Amino acid sequence: MLTQTQVKTITQTSDQVIVETSRETFTGRYAVVATSPLAASFLKYDPSLPLVAQRIWKAIRPWDFPALNILLVFKKSWRPGLIYLPSEEKETKDGISGIIMELYSRNVDRSLIRILTYPEAINGKSKEEIQRLSLEFLASLYPEDREFLFENFVSLTTFNWADIKPFIPGVTYYYSPEGSLATYGQYLRKNQGRVYFAGSESSISGLHWMSGAIIRGNEVAADILKEMGRIKSRSEYLREISKKNFAGVDSIRSKNILQILKNFFGKIFPWSSSPNIIRKQSYLPSREELSGRSISIAYRQHYLTQSESKISKQVQKV
Ligand SMILES: Cc1cc2nc3c(=O)[nH]c(=O)nc-3n(C[C@H](O)[C@H](O)[C@H](O)COP(=O)(O)OP(=O)(O)OC[C@H]3O[C@@H](n4cnc5c(N)ncnc54)[C@H](O)[C@@H]3O)c2cc1C
Repeated sequence: MLTQTQVKTITQTSDQVIVETSRETFTGRYAVVATSPLAASFLKYDPSLPLVAQRIWKAIRPWDFPALNILLVFKKSWRPGLIYLPSEEKETKDGISGIIMELYSRNVDRSLIRILTYPEAINGKSKEEIQRLSLEFLASLYPEDREFLFENFVSLTTFNWADIKPFIPGVTYYYSPEGSLATYGQYLRKNQGRVYFAGSESSISGLHWMSGAIIRGNEVAADILKEMGRIKSRSEYLREISKKNFAGVDSIRSKNILQILKNFFGKIFPWSSSPNIIRKQSYLPSREELSGRSISIAYRQHYLTQSESKISKQVQKV
């Protein structure tokens, strides 16, 4: 696997795909573009995508509203499971405001609160000021908790998603003019010859969540395996995967969950092998949750970014 290598051009011939990157060129039988549609729209395709498909790519407009993560650690649990989505009237342009998510206190008596907001919200502000404005924002929504928030606050860290993922040309996006997605959205899922499109935003279920990226990855794998004649039935293949997922979860539940996750994550993410709160905290969704949106929260807890992992260590120290 190559990282820090930007794909520039994807060229198709009758029997192969040639992928040109910032460093070298690769050939293969198929290519899967597993990025946001926005990132996919920045690639050069040769031959070009059909005109009707280009309509949806051209309609995409980047938006960086939730790029900045402000992470606040509290030494006591605060509103476990809270997810707050702001309405327009409640957004304050000069202070700090945005989406709030409580990430940790499902099993422990501590909280990690994440505020997602505009990168500009903290421009030119000192850490103390960001801390004060963030706490003020939380207190403005929950005035009855004001004292609790200021008394139990431990530390704050910020990171900008767009800096961490330099190839993402925008964190979220919309389709302009209105109606473009409804009219041309089907082309986000349609393969163009040997080039297939995956990524969370082309998934019908789990859209905008980690779970969507996984579901869609499996779908595209099934499409290609079917095309190559390696599997007989796409739907049977996907059903088997889903059965294995359920069986995996059941088997993990019935054994020592912490040990299994420790081994699994220790191998995949060496940085996670030092003791930290994530493993202590790992949460497995119920069968019902597996089919819904909350599965992505579980995935998210498992696939925390390195920055969040650092924060989790702070939580542990408290
Ligand atoms: C701030 C924020 C918070 C989020 N929180 C949650 C959460 O709590 N729970 C949850 O389930 N989901 C969350 N999400 C959504 C989740 O991160 C996405 O849905 C998921 O990562 C999408 O996966 P993907 O594989 O489709 O795309 P990505 O994760 O975007 O992966 C695509 C990859 O392709 C790379 N790439 C792009 N262009 C090129 C190119 N030209 N050449 C080479 N590489 C390229 C990118 O660098 C990136 O690594 C959050 C997203 C954001 C932005």
